[in-house]
Amino acid sequence: MTQLAQLEFVKADKLKEKPDPSTLQFGKVFTDYMFEMDYDIEEGGWHNPTIKPFSPLSLSPASFVFHYGQAVFEGLKAYKQADGTIVIFRPEKHIARLNTSNERLCIPKVDEKLALEALVQLIELESDWVPEKEGTSLYIRPFIISVEPYLGVRPSYHYKFMIILSPVGAYYADGQLNPVKIFVEDEFVRAVKGGVGHVKTPGNYAASLLAQEHAQKKGYEQVLWLDGKENKYIEEVGSMNIFFKINGEIYTPKLNGSILSGVTRDSVIELVKDWGVPLHEERIAIEDIFEAHQKGLLEEVFGTGTAAVISPVGELRWEDKVITINNNETGEFAKKLYDTITGIQYGKLEDTFNWVK
Ligand code: PMP
Repeated sequence: MTQLAQLEFVKADKLKEKPDPSTLQFGKVFTDYMFEMDYDIEEGGWHNPTIKPFSPLSLSPASFVFHYGQAVFEGLKAYKQADGTIVIFRPEKHIARLNTSNERLCIPKVDEKLALEALVQLIELESDWVPEKEGTSLYIRPFIISVEPYLGVRPSYHYKFMIILSPVGAYYADGQLNPVKIFVEDEFVRAVKGGVGHVKTPGNYAASLLAQEHAQKKGYEQVLWLDGKENKYIEEVGSMNIFFKINGEIYTPKLNGSILSGVTRDSVIELVKDWGVPLHEERIAIEDIFEAHQKGLLEEVFGTGTAAVISPVGELRWEDKVITINNNETGEFAKKLYDTITGIQYGKLEDTFNWVK
């Protein structure tokens, strides 16, 4: 019997009223139910898989996570297609990445099949919460926190794995991709080689806030992170991976241990290869991007991530140099990638890569 065959279900007394789909934002409203599973060394590992009403947690103030941040999370989406089918975009990849994060943070791994089954069951139960309008989706947030009440520094013995769901509005309200202005960060760094930049752990996001705040004060939406050693090589943009189109070819920083391995990045790479466009995963110096622009070869820049899918970059500022990319308009290549990936997500295009589940 799999652990999930023993899944406990606690019924909610009363269901919430669904929000007006036109007012949906990101991550503010949560569905009726959540998944929860505990890990205790004394109980032999992960146990007690339960779907129960979304409700506050009761934790000791000494819980490990509050002091030393031993925690990981994921972010993925479910979509309602035109015929009413609900699909999840590449869930296995996200669950595999959760385990990569677990490994780095000394958190016991979860059974990937069980986690996928839990996710599917929760979404089936909450199918009425998946919004219909194109561009909207149900955001899925699996996460694991260390809950042992202990102030010594060593891996916790107790954890909670939870999945919560939040209906979210369209990233591009009018369906048009809007290019963003990006500040190339030359003071703060996001991650270093040998650190935790390649995994999804809360500290990475906490550490990014100040740079983001500084950039916003200067009128930029996000920062472009450079490497933590030489402040020279491009890593990521905000919480997205980054791509460049230079003289008809696509470039993206290669995964180096400090860059998150984005699921959207992976999907874009598969598509670019499938279309026969030359693709280079390599170390990219910021200087070379500005030089390519000067030579008139920098055609497009765009970020990739679950939230926006594709986010075109219209302006880059590095030190005192400012460049405008593609007239601050969405490039054709970025648009084609966006239309293809969202086409597969919303069931308008054939899922030839077997991405949706
Ligand atoms: N980099 C960082 C730091 C992120 O938080 C994300 C969002 N998960 C990404 C890149 C893009 O990853 P994905 O395409 O899997 O959403």
